[in-house]
Amino acid sequence: MDHFALKDGALHCEGVSLETIAAEVGTPVYVYSTATFERHAQVFREGLKDAGRVHLAYAIKANPNRAVLRVLANQGYGADVVSGGELARALSAGIPASDIVFSGVGKTRDELAQALSVGLGQFNLELEEEGQVLAAIAHAQGMTAQATLRVNPDVDAGTHAKISTGKAENKFGVPIDQAPAIFGRLAALPGIRMRGVAIHIGSQLSTLDPLEAAFTRIGRLVANLRAAGHPIDRVDLGGGLGVPYRPGEVMPSPAEFGAMVARVTRGWDVELMFEPGRVIAGNAGVLLTKVIWVKPGVTNPYVIVDAAMNDLARPALYDAYHDFVAVRPTGERMIANIAGPVCESGDTFAMGRDIDRVVSGDLAIFRTAGAYGATMASTYNSRALVPEVLVSGDKYAVVADRIAAETILAAERLPDWLTA
Ligand SMILES: *Cc1c(COP(=O)(O)O)cnc(C)c1O
Repeated sequence: MDHFALKDGALHCEGVSLETIAAEVGTPVYVYSTATFERHAQVFREGLKDAGRVHLAYAIKANPNRAVLRVLANQGYGADVVSGGELARALSAGIPASDIVFSGVGKTRDELAQALSVGLGQFNLELEEEGQVLAAIAHAQGMTAQATLRVNPDVDAGTHAKISTGKAENKFGVPIDQAPAIFGRLAALPGIRMRGVAIHIGSQLSTLDPLEAAFTRIGRLVANLRAAGHPIDRVDLGGGLGVPYRPGEVMPSPAEFGAMVARVTRGWDVELMFEPGRVIAGNAGVLLTKVIWVKPGVTNPYVIVDAAMNDLARPALYDAYHDFVAVRPTGERMIANIAGPVCESGDTFAMGRDIDRVVSGDLAIFRTAGAYGATMASTYNSRALVPEVLVSGDKYAVVADRIAAETILAAERLPDWLTA
């Protein structure tokens, strides 16, 4: 459920008309609903009510806007970060370091040291050497790093290849058969405390079966590690739950997910960690755009909007579907292609889609753009960096400025040998 709905003929986000936001902030612009973020955070937590001790770390790469992080921090969420930049953001939004998990296959030595110095809650290690380096840095400073070992369970998540992370050939985690030996060697090092294991098999998962298969394997691994004498008190089950992008699409609910987790993990006696991203943020945001032209095409007309692949990359990256609806629908329909102004055919959001009839100057939204939207934006084609707006009830605020092409240009330099 979200809070984007028609009121008096025009789409609103909660109590604010999208026409008002377009008039006052301009387009393209991301618009987020506080109430939707809060609801998703609560529903996900509620789904896990029978799963024992639970720690929720929002995967901030899905939507790292500082205002969004604060909304989720107020719901008791920690953060899953994947870079030093994300760590700094999470801290600046008021998330305690002890509630932050650091994931990622390429943490640099500087990032490990930065995270240690702020008292990070948990490092999810991706390879043995990373654990050795972390332990050495911590030991040299008289500290102890809290860590889990990320395991690759070799499970096919059944999602898009570019967001599958749990197959043996993917770059993530250590092979599950090697995990006991690596865990044992790392646990013996000074400077590190190995608390348990972690997995994350992919994103936009549309069934629970691969998750259940992976969790079952992890359960056996935990039993093996305990049999080898390791006290295991945390298991990080990652993120990955899918969200509906298409009208009528049905995804496993947080309640169904939670019931599966409770069943599979019964008796593990650990703190279960979760790293939800998309399921919290996806349907909490839309990309508001304006139709520039309706251009006749060979088969269907092209609706050319002022948002492009640099603002919302998912269709170009993953052939992703984003529902497109008019802000003030007339009831008439049209079959059209939807594309942005960028000079690539990849800058196409949909082909031959049945949509609300729109004409030049109309406003429309791409739905389900709250996750992996603004965070992936670029300035390709010297376009401005897209701004973000957060709505709460009948208030709204610009929570990330539009960064004008001129501002980006001003950060470039001509070397002196070209100006002499
Ligand atoms: C991306 C990522 C997540 C979040 O995935 P969602 O599909 O958005 O829930 C969680 N954990 C890790 C390690 C990730 O890389």
